[in-house]
Amino acid sequence: MDLNIYSHPACLGHELHIRRFEERKGRLLALTRLFNDLGLSVDEDIVPVTKAQLSQIHTPRYIDTVEAMSRLGPVRNRVASFTNPFVQWYTRVSPGSYDAARYAAGSVCKAVEDTMSGRCTRAFAAIRPPGHHAGPERGEGFCIFNNIAMGAVHALNQGARRVAIVDFDRHHGNGTQDIITNRDDSRMMLVSSYQAGCKYDKNHGLSGVLAPNIVTVPIAEGSTFGAVAAQYRQFVIPALRDFKPELILISAGFDMHEADPLSDIKLKSADYYHLTHMLVEAAEELCGGRIVSALEGGYDEAALAESVDYHLQALRGVAPKL
Ligand SMILES: [Zn+2]
Repeated sequence: MDLNIYSHPACLGHELHIRRFEERKGRLLALTRLFNDLGLSVDEDIVPVTKAQLSQIHTPRYIDTVEAMSRLGPVRNRVASFTNPFVQWYTRVSPGSYDAARYAAGSVCKAVEDTMSGRCTRAFAAIRPPGHHAGPERGEGFCIFNNIAMGAVHALNQGARRVAIVDFDRHHGNGTQDIITNRDDSRMMLVSSYQAGCKYDKNHGLSGVLAPNIVTVPIAEGSTFGAVAAQYRQFVIPALRDFKPELILISAGFDMHEADPLSDIKLKSADYYHLTHMLVEAAEELCGGRIVSALEGGYDEAALAESVDYHLQALRGVAPKL
């Protein structure tokens, strides 16, 4: 199966300058080493998304705020990040962040274009900052612009009638949910699994099918892959079958890994092969196999690279390396 990989060096320009902070550029460098080791070529010919594109998911006031903060020098910028009402303090905007975030979203858009046009069937965007906590007017949880929502809207603009986002990050895709709800767009579906009790889950304790196109799947603390797979079989795959998407996008966070500093879920690296394979089978059944996957979390760099390796094996349809 053909798999294209997308990334851009501008994604390294987002610098949080917080010591011992988990979302750092070493994550992306670890994946670059993986792609080199595997001999996979990376498409870096990315066009950053425009303000007009971003305004389909974020307010102009928020986009302009991120741009203005990025123009400040490092010191003024740091002060502004602490006090800005649109950006959660530890999400932090640095001078390189506006471009990093626009190239990250642009990478997903190119992945969508190539997948929708048949140039490839599977695509993976190795990008940062991540996006799934970014809402219409707020940067939150390391996320600035919502890359996966941007890609989903781009697919609709390219002619897709329905697109589904499956979010298997350890955290709830609250920003993606807010964007879909804010757009009141029944052509977009989000199925988000996350560790039960996740602080980003703001659905007031409600879970399950919150709307025909918004499904939340809490996973109990301490779960191993058997429990996660059961939830996917029971809730995620049936939701996809009901919705009948023409493209499946994955918010691919790898922080359910047992080595992850932010997680109490106990997945092993190879489990990401089997989790991805379930989505590959759904895509084969529902939408010609088309999947666009974009990096979200995953904060232990060795575990991240190993998990992404298994994720890519499943996307390529090869037997897992044991
Ligand atoms: Zn996460």
